[in-house]
Amino acid sequence: MSTRQRLSSLGITPRKSLGQNFLTDPGIARAIVAAARIDPGDLVIEIGPGIGALTQFLAQQAGHVIAIELDQHLIPALQAELRHPANLTVIHADALAVDYNTIRQTIGADVCPIEAPVRVVGNLPYYITSAFIRRLLESQLNPALIVLTVQMEVAQRMIAEPDEMSLLAVSVQFYGQPRLMMRISPSAFYPQPDVDSAVVAITPYPRPLYARASSVFALARAGFGQRRKQLRNTLASGLGITREQAEGILLASRIDPARRAETLGIDEWITLASHYDAQG
Ligand code: SAM
Repeated sequence: MSTRQRLSSLGITPRKSLGQNFLTDPGIARAIVAAARIDPGDLVIEIGPGIGALTQFLAQQAGHVIAIELDQHLIPALQAELRHPANLTVIHADALAVDYNTIRQTIGADVCPIEAPVRVVGNLPYYITSAFIRRLLESQLNPALIVLTVQMEVAQRMIAEPDEMSLLAVSVQFYGQPRLMMRISPSAFYPQPDVDSAVVAITPYPRPLYARASSVFALARAGFGQRRKQLRNTLASGLGITREQAEGILLASRIDPARRAETLGIDEWITLASHYDAQG
């Protein structure tokens, strides 16, 4: 049965407002799950399982899967489609509101040991991608790997290099190393989205690159706050400091004050943060 027929027999009409584009190609689902390199003892957290295109393979490979789904109409269908695997816990919640620091406690330590490595997998609705990544990476969950299917353009922004950096690139690259794993055409989904998708694997760093993440993000938010303006101006207005103070921090960091935010690499944002913090 095709995905379309399965949805119709389950009485489900895909909801555009929840970004419901269901994967129809099991070969691609397997390839996404393979990209997560799951070991049998791992705890996998899946965001937006839908009717289980990825979940079925995740549950076959992981020690336990916690699947977080916002649409409660899909949950009975998901469980029935997968025949209630014992190692699957489905949570009806908004992935943007979940407390990732305590999510392991949703299942007992007898079900999944506290030291089990965590992998996060999701075919996310496009509009929650950035907010979700920030919430997850700022938490203490410390996943070993994050594998996300996102809009191609979002994937390209995550892996961008200096000259094409954005607040999203800084947010991701501060916490880990993103890699583009594959491109997926709209025909792999039902209903078909308007644009290509891509799978990105983010390997989080074991330790933060800089202790005060808040300073890096305050600077980056200020820097990217006004497009195509020089850093001496964007930092001054965004941080509420004088242009001379902004220039002082930039020069101390060996960054030309006339450069623009999109030209800075992650190491330069960190150098900038250390000089900003040193000024008190
Ligand atoms: N993983 C399934 C697949 O590949 O066929 C479904 C992917 S579909 C693009 C996105 C899924 O995320 C839908 O099941 C949708 O209901 C769910 N979703 C949307 N917003 C969500 C949120 N804020 N938190 C959790 N799940 C959400």
